[in-house]
Amino acid sequence: TEITLGQIQSIIKEKSVELLHLQFVDIEGILKNITITSAQLDDAAEGKIMMDGSSIKGFSPINKSDSYLAPDLNTFVVLPWTETEGYSEARFLCSVTNPDGTLFEGDTRNVLKKTVARAAEQGYSISVGPELEFFLFKTDENGYPTTELGDLGGYFEPSPKDLGEKVRVEIFKALKAMGFTIEALHHEVAEGQHEINFKYADALTAADLSTTYKWVVKTIAAQYGLHATFMPKPVFGINGSGMHVNMSFFKDGQNIFFDESDELQLSSTAYSFIAGLLENVKSFVAVTNPLVNSYKRLVPGYEAPCYLAWSASNRSALIRIPAKKGMATRVELRCPDPSANPYLTFAVIASAGLDGVEKGLKAPAPVNEDIFHMSEERREELGIDSLPGGLEAAVAELEAGEIGLKTLGEHVFNEYVAAKRAEWDSYRTAVHAWEINNYQFKF
Ligand code: GLU
Ligand code: MG
Ligand code: MG
Repeated sequence: TEITLGQIQSIIKEKSVELLHLQFVDIEGILKNITITSAQLDDAAEGKIMMDGSSIKGFSPINKSDSYLAPDLNTFVVLPWTETEGYSEARFLCSVTNPDGTLFEGDTRNVLKKTVARAAEQGYSISVGPELEFFLFKTDENGYPTTELGDLGGYFEPSPKDLGEKVRVEIFKALKAMGFTIEALHHEVAEGQHEINFKYADALTAADLSTTYKWVVKTIAAQYGLHATFMPKPVFGINGSGMHVNMSFFKDGQNIFFDESDELQLSSTAYSFIAGLLENVKSFVAVTNPLVNSYKRLVPGYEAPCYLAWSASNRSALIRIPAKKGMATRVELRCPDPSANPYLTFAVIASAGLDGVEKGLKAPAPVNEDIFHMSEERREELGIDSLPGGLEAAVAELEAGEIGLKTLGEHVFNEYVAAKRAEWDSYRTAVHAWEINNYQFKF
């Protein structure tokens, strides 16, 4: 359902909205905003609000830094935590445009729009259901995060053991007030770890929802003296946080991954999609798992994948087929983590799957054994490859592969590779606590 400018104006009046935050994301998916007064709404809607992109990571070079913000009216929402008697604030998510009104190619939201258009050319709409896990940490007297977990609850544990439950419920209330269709909330396996699930949507909406979700989770947690982090592996020795991405293609309102006559009720399109993911994952994992820290999650034993295999049930596999069938048939990719830019993440996954479908690739046999506890010989026998072991290797694969450049476009691809190389170099040359612990005394 599309909302009109007139409807927005009446909500602004009714809820006394004084300030409008025009939000967009940088190349890492980090949320930015500039704030205007509600009186500027018409100008904003006409795309007249200018912003200097030269200080935004991955945006324009300094010599052509004028960009404009084009608010997406459908993303208008009043912020529940700002609402008081006679005052409130609202926000829009925006696409970044060039002075001539065309979409700026450095804006990752625009990158996803291109992949959505590529799928649409073949009659497909991309449906995405992401699952974003996060940790809550206690804060110090300045409000900065400590390394002390917010609670010591475990998987599915109810209060009073789960001190995070109260905050989780408050986050739920805020998300619901903002129009999210929430399906479930739970304490995750690790201490201090939580997950709130929202209903699948078309790819662009799902990326917008993911961006908003991360912001709301952090905002509400901070109100309760906790710091929420989407860092993939904040604590060694316990589970990290994933962002499983459930995806399916729809055509004429039908889920085309579903085929009742197949043993697993998957269509040949679904098998080709799986094959496309397996073929391309090594070269797109630098996008879905963007941080040095991401690769510390992708190790055996913590419900996060590290081997390239698919299965109908196996949680140690990279790709899983959840049991729900019919319209809910979907392919779950388990490697992405929530520090990834959701626009780029959904774009590369859909693009890899589309490649598989276009080329009619055939999926290998599923692997239903526990791969975490499999010997290297057995893995070799089954031809099971592994994900890159670190950011440096992943970036090298991204550069060497075709899917990155093809999907991200030249601007984002080049900026992304440069940023990730710099990040790796900064990490590579730093001296870490592990080195001090293991070397300082001994040598
Ligand atoms: N936290 C796990 C991960 O790192 C996933 C747990 C689950 O299956 O929900 O991906
Ligand atoms: Mg989970
Ligand atoms: Mg899952």
